[in-house]
Amino acid sequence: MFAEPSDREALRFGEKSLNYAELHQAAGTLAERLKGHTRVAVWATSTLETCVSVVAGLLAGVAIVPLNPKLGERELEHILGDSRPDLILRDETVRLVSDPAEPGRDETSRLGEPHPETPALVIYTSGTTGPPKGVVLPRRSLTSNIDALAKAWQWTSDDVLVHGLPLFHVHGLGIGILGPLRLGGAVRHVKFSPEAIGHEFATGATMMFGVPTMYHRIAEAVENDATLADQFRTARLLVSGSAALPASDHERIAKATGQGIVERYGMSETLMNVSVRFDGDRRPGAVGLPVDGVDVQVVDEQGDGVDDGAIGEIEVRGPNLFLEYLNRPDATEAAFRDGWFRTGDMAVRDPDGYIRIVGRRATDLIKSGGYKIGAGEIENVLLEHPSVAEVAVTGEPDDDLGERIVAWVVPAGEAPEPSALSDHVAKLLSPHKRPRVVRYLQALPRNEMGKVLKRELS
Ligand code: ATP
Ligand code: MG
Repeated sequence: MFAEPSDREALRFGEKSLNYAELHQAAGTLAERLKGHTRVAVWATSTLETCVSVVAGLLAGVAIVPLNPKLGERELEHILGDSRPDLILRDETVRLVSDPAEPGRDETSRLGEPHPETPALVIYTSGTTGPPKGVVLPRRSLTSNIDALAKAWQWTSDDVLVHGLPLFHVHGLGIGILGPLRLGGAVRHVKFSPEAIGHEFATGATMMFGVPTMYHRIAEAVENDATLADQFRTARLLVSGSAALPASDHERIAKATGQGIVERYGMSETLMNVSVRFDGDRRPGAVGLPVDGVDVQVVDEQGDGVDDGAIGEIEVRGPNLFLEYLNRPDATEAAFRDGWFRTGDMAVRDPDGYIRIVGRRATDLIKSGGYKIGAGEIENVLLEHPSVAEVAVTGEPDDDLGERIVAWVVPAGEAPEPSALSDHVAKLLSPHKRPRVVRYLQALPRNEMGKVLKRELS
């Protein structure tokens, strides 16, 4: 599962770091304590201790349930009540430096490799569309997916990854920590700011993972700071995911730094399904091709494949898939059709196979005037308007149209006339895609991954 013990740096959080020998020692010692348990929860603070706890769980063959440290009482009750962990680990209960006399490094190899189908992580979904569900991921999801991404991104032990993502989702933890640890490279975790990331690129980091709200801040920063732009220019690879990267931010960063951001599409249930390859065409608004070993199809409501260019739902099959939603056999069954996992995400495929995510079936597909319209396309065009800082497009019931298009806009400076924004969309796309209603807000409701909570917009 992980690279062998050595004196190479594995993890760095601020001033503190662990090499592979120290990591195996600390995690091996903890794994001894965890053996025999079924599920262990971890307060997933952004610390070395969290990483050691997760690695220990994987060594012991125990499923780890990472807990967002900012969970409110209601959410915590839901997650603990649902996952019923045998133990909860927090930073204070994890020792980083072990006594050499204690079992540890040697113990690691004696623990043996658990079966590939053993649950490794129980990740609660972001709760963007409903109460979080516990996604049970087996070891083979992680190993197969990290190996597929390594191929797609030419990601090796020479890479030093930097990110500032939380450690309780598949993005920051599943691939952002376990990826480098499997491949034998290093990861440096920072408190996110464009400057903190730029500093790491100036001192040896080679690649970055981030969410679109981070890239938005980077776009602003590199346009105004030539030194920072040069630091980003030296990177080998910038990867974005978890939500759609606006085409405008993709283009601004490319212009200022020469970096074409590689977008990938994934979810808790599947890890990463589709990505632009390192040597592929970095087309704004596209997430690229299925990664090795993963089958992807775009289908209509009946499950039949749709033509290139038509909107359909993405279905996925492959070794990357989860085992089940914990305690939710109903939800697990409903999520599959003929062996394919139904993602609930809508997409179109370009003639060369590139996938473009339209958005979620539940919130981003608007049926208006007999047309099926993707919210993302309208959002991208509105972001090109100089008076729009942020935007989310939704549909709301309309007697005449079925649904009418609503634009929720955070203005850049003074709010423009609503008609100016409608005309802008009608001119660049087509008249039936223009917002019929424009509502101004100070900020969009977002979760900690920066995803817009559309169900709160009404
Ligand atoms: P919940 O399932 O609880 O509503 P969630 O779906 O946001 O929350 P995650 O599993 O963390 O929880 O996120 C996966 C979703 O994120 C995908 O289904 C997709 O809608 C979105 N997503 C991920 N990557 C991309 C991308 N590159 N472009 C557009 N959307 C993306
Ligand atoms: Mg989801």
